[in-house]
Amino acid sequence: MAPSSGKRREFSLRTRQHTWDSLQHRTQPLDALIVGGGIVGAGCLREMALRGLTNALLIDKGDFASGTSSASSKLIHAGIRYLEQAWNRLKEGQLSAAVRDFWFVVEASSERKALRRLAPHLIRTKRIHLVLAAGDTRNPLSVMAGTWLYFFIQLLQGQAYERPRAYLNQEAIRRAVPEIDASKVRAVFTFADAETDDARLVIENLQDANDLGAAAMNYVELVSFEVRDDGVHALLRNRETEATARVHSRVLINAAGASVDDVAARGGEAPSEVFVDRVAGSHIDVHPPLTENSYYVTASDGRLVFVLCRDEDGLRFTRIGTTERPLAPGESSDAPRPTQRELQYLVGLTNEFFPKSPVKAGDIIGTDAGIRPLRARSGTQSAFQKSREHEIVEEGPVYHIIGVKLTDYRRVAVEVMNGIRWDEHGAPLPSTPPSRPLRPAERGDRMYAEATAEQIVNQTMVLHWDDLALRRLGGRPRTWRQSDPAALDRFLNEMSRLMGWSPTQAAAERARFSAPTLP
Ligand SMILES: Cc1cc2nc3c(=O)[nH]c(=O)nc-3n(C[C@H](O)[C@H](O)[C@H](O)COP(=O)(O)OP(=O)(O)OC[C@H]3O[C@@H](n4cnc5c(N)ncnc54)[C@H](O)[C@@H]3O)c2cc1C
Repeated sequence: MAPSSGKRREFSLRTRQHTWDSLQHRTQPLDALIVGGGIVGAGCLREMALRGLTNALLIDKGDFASGTSSASSKLIHAGIRYLEQAWNRLKEGQLSAAVRDFWFVVEASSERKALRRLAPHLIRTKRIHLVLAAGDTRNPLSVMAGTWLYFFIQLLQGQAYERPRAYLNQEAIRRAVPEIDASKVRAVFTFADAETDDARLVIENLQDANDLGAAAMNYVELVSFEVRDDGVHALLRNRETEATARVHSRVLINAAGASVDDVAARGGEAPSEVFVDRVAGSHIDVHPPLTENSYYVTASDGRLVFVLCRDEDGLRFTRIGTTERPLAPGESSDAPRPTQRELQYLVGLTNEFFPKSPVKAGDIIGTDAGIRPLRARSGTQSAFQKSREHEIVEEGPVYHIIGVKLTDYRRVAVEVMNGIRWDEHGAPLPSTPPSRPLRPAERGDRMYAEATAEQIVNQTMVLHWDDLALRRLGGRPRTWRQSDPAALDRFLNEMSRLMGWSPTQAAAERARFSAPTLP
């Protein structure tokens, strides 16, 4: 792959203003309007730009990655539990469903390899301990076979990771993972997965698309749209100024994640179907870290809960999640928050397995919740059993993207670009994209530790203090909020100076980054 070269273009509040102003005097339609600046929309914008289609605009009604794409477990994984699902389906005689689940793992595993080449500075291998709780009825030998199958899938794809291990008796478990209460555990297996920083992956895809000439704006909402013979006519609202603008685009890509149905409904027509079932999931971040290892724990209620050691530019903390809470049909997808019950569940489960370093309220530096947009299907499956496979639904010039995992965003973006009937919509045919890796952000791998507020403000389109503190700087501001308010003040003062905020504005910005709700 040829490395991307050239100077990074500015991607800031000024860039955003310029893009907004230019909407007023556009004479040509856009080739695509992308709604949603999560990982899916960002991946699509970059994929378009790589193919030479830079006459595209992405909008997000909040900050980029402010939806689920900053609230995930941050794993780039092939989903080892789908191997188990495939095996169970095979035993039940559902051959085609079993093959589909197995293939799902193979494809996601291959995608992990592609992402490691695309962003080696953002995708890291992670050694995982899979903990089978004492009451778990799974056969340890089957689980062990699963970890080996996972390993061989990776090996056949040229991904050489550490070979799996199994600890099947109390003595072996105590020696391998002394921090865990071995009496609560039946067996432990180790294998390799990978992790990333979801929000930073979004921002770097957008930066790269911006470098290639495409445009993106945060805090701009799609209010409504209308499909006509010549494409899509949309009304946008600038949420910073309440100004509105009309845009004409040949194609609309609905990448609104959990809000995909809401955006579809803004087209005026009665929706043809419900696209997603929404399932909220919460995490807590704990500092200092409970452990230097990372675990998938099978809880007594059948869930797989992650206890992950994160290292964000040298700052280590533990990320624990996730829960599963289906959202009611009318419930808003905006700014979901963990419930007290979910937080108590996560703390309780962690303290049960890690009694030597119990989570204390003062150690919780952050909590978040995201919404899984799962493809709605009839039937009575529980949220946990639903397939995470994605789907692209075409309605004339409108393309709805449904149910995409973080791990799959790149290949789905490729699929979307290959699937759009560009010629029928009057847009230029895209060229074959060159293969090039993402360029590390300013200061490369150590952006959080070393970048200045000025670099981040100029390069990552920050509008508000919480954009910077929650989605540009990793875990550091959250620990400062807890233990070093002076360091937080220094960064906020610097940002106030760069943004020209008055003391009143700065105080309002500070309030946006409030302390987490604790159990
Ligand atoms: C708790 C949890 C953990 C997860 N962990 C993992 C994991 O470890 N690995 C993995 O591969 N996947 C994981 N996933 C799945 C993955 O994170 C999501 O599927 C993915 O982030 C969805 O990205 P998206 O771009 O579709 O949606 P989002 O990130 O939610 O982006 C959609 C955007 O659309 C914007 N929007 C909505 N309406 C409008 C409008 N009218 N106008 C303009 N903008 C609008 C929103 O503001 C939002 O930013 C997890 C999901 C959850 C819930």
